[in-house]
Amino acid sequence: MDRRSLIKYMSMCTAGGVFSLSFPSLRSAIASERGPEWGYEGENGPQLWSELSSDFSVCGTGRQQSPIDLQGAIPSELADFELSYQDIPLRLLHNGHTIQVNAEPGNKLNLSGKDFELLQFHFHHPSEHTANNQPYPMEVHFVHQSKQGELAVLGIFMQEGDENEGLNPIWDAMPDQETPEQTIAGVKVNMSKLLPDDQSSYRYFGSLTTPPCSEIVRWVVLQEPIAVSKGQIEKFSRVFPGNARPVQPRNRRFLLQSN
Ligand SMILES: [Zn+2]
Repeated sequence: MDRRSLIKYMSMCTAGGVFSLSFPSLRSAIASERGPEWGYEGENGPQLWSELSSDFSVCGTGRQQSPIDLQGAIPSELADFELSYQDIPLRLLHNGHTIQVNAEPGNKLNLSGKDFELLQFHFHHPSEHTANNQPYPMEVHFVHQSKQGELAVLGIFMQEGDENEGLNPIWDAMPDQETPEQTIAGVKVNMSKLLPDDQSSYRYFGSLTTPPCSEIVRWVVLQEPIAVSKGQIEKFSRVFPGNARPVQPRNRRFLLQSN
């Protein structure tokens, strides 16, 4: 997931919902929050994130980092989670690290009785989590936040198969260079088409998978992938050849799995 976009998104929200990036003070406020440039290869790559800024040190020293390999999970009676997503207007951006779709209020994840509001979702190629050391071609992250500021991220693997109609409006509008948020007039996203039928999951506590790698995330990763066509994977991979952080040590954490 992408902290920078989250900050960008939240700063736009605190500006009273005025999504005009031409407003100079807002633009400079966003620029100052961007911090050092980080990426996925070379001297800005994941192995060196902790050295790019003191704000990123937990990327190197943290003991509860994400993503992880999902292996050896403990079967458990997990507390329910429930999604209530509506169709949302398509507001998307290329933030330099991924394609992100910003949500409007009213889309919720209820996890163990607690509500988390969907802020945005975005994509990684290849997947960040792996299953028995195998990555999937892609992974989507739905990022939610509680009123208290805790994050809950729903991760869903994407494997090659039939075309995913739910992705088409997003893929049709996908910018190939960094852009501010744009609203695609008259186009809605049906997020239910991005969810698998079976919602059996893995659960663990972890972090943002991008700097500053804060260890504040309740992860729910679904066991069943959704399908995405070869052409859809190729289109994303032309814009993002690789935007996945490598898996991190699990250390002393529990990884739980639905019975
Ligand atoms: Zn992500």
